[in-house]
Amino acid sequence: MRIFRRSSNAGSSSRPATDNSPAAIARRPLLGAAAALPFGLLGCNAAAKTGTEAASATASETAPRAGQQDAAGGPAPTVRVRLLGTGGPEMSTTRQGMSTLIEAGGLRLLFDVGRGATQNMYESRVNPKDVTKIFLTHLHNDHYEDLPTLWLNPWFMLGRTEQLEIWGPPGTAGMVKGMRAMYQHDLDHRSNALFKKEYLDIRVHEIRPGIVYDQDGVKVTAFTVEHKDGNPAYGFRFDHSGKSVLLSGDTTYHENVVTHGKGVDALIHNVIAFDEELTKSGKLKAVEEKLTTPEQAARVFSEARPRIAVFSHIAKKGLHGEAGDQVIMNRTRKAGYDGPLYMGLDRMTIDIADDVTVRKPLSTAGLPELDGPGVRL
Ligand SMILES: [Zn+2]
Repeated sequence: MRIFRRSSNAGSSSRPATDNSPAAIARRPLLGAAAALPFGLLGCNAAAKTGTEAASATASETAPRAGQQDAAGGPAPTVRVRLLGTGGPEMSTTRQGMSTLIEAGGLRLLFDVGRGATQNMYESRVNPKDVTKIFLTHLHNDHYEDLPTLWLNPWFMLGRTEQLEIWGPPGTAGMVKGMRAMYQHDLDHRSNALFKKEYLDIRVHEIRPGIVYDQDGVKVTAFTVEHKDGNPAYGFRFDHSGKSVLLSGDTTYHENVVTHGKGVDALIHNVIAFDEELTKSGKLKAVEEKLTTPEQAARVFSEARPRIAVFSHIAKKGLHGEAGDQVIMNRTRKAGYDGPLYMGLDRMTIDIADDVTVRKPLSTAGLPELDGPGVRL
């Protein structure tokens, strides 16, 4: 993996004020304990609300860095956001579980590892062996159920030699310990001189609200949100070189999302919606109250005024397909939000530079099978 390091004065030199410090729980090993590709462009920039304008661009095999040119000759984005999975726990042919990859400063940071995240990484032409830094918003299963795949598969099949590092709420260390116990057979028998057991060590940081990552001009800030039986739950703000992304995590309306999301380039928010009958019945009121309705999301977006707002972790019942998506968009508009708004799709890309560009999911046409260490995507 080529790592581009950006020489920049962006980012703070102060140490993170959390478990990332040497004195804290951080860095706890638990062992024993590009080709040019077609894109569609969804709205040219932040000034556009929604659109279906077609254009082309180039996928980069490596994380973008400032000043880098893409293969089409244009400047690479400062920050690239890949919506890997945009669904809730519901089964769908088009949406996998929640997972978002953010690339900047030569780094790739993964936020949540829902069902299908590793597959969608591959289908986004990102080699899963290059994704080793993982941030978990909370410990509901639909946010990390693909973690075992990302942990083991690239190790024995793609020759990953880098250990995973996970930042998550209290309880993350126990979850990882349990995962290791579940895959004890692999740990005991599958390693050899090439696939070393120590490559499966995982460094866990159980985080508190505050700056949880600050390296190479990339900063991640965690903040508390309200997710009822999912608490403790966090949202994350990502900053790099004056560009910013806000991930709400799973939460109902929360002022921390507004506070941290004020004027960000992209505000990515969960949403939950049911069909009229189910809504009126009140049967799933308790579920609805754990997440954010379109009307509440309109309030968040109106108060935070991001350059673009994007729905991801789209939990819906009785609102199938694109027609169901449109109901959510309509309800958000009716509730008064009139800024740029996008419905997240799996493998959609958001490029943040001077403009914010939202691109349709990358085509998988011609994508080679990822069956060994030598494959270039
Ligand atoms: Zn949840």
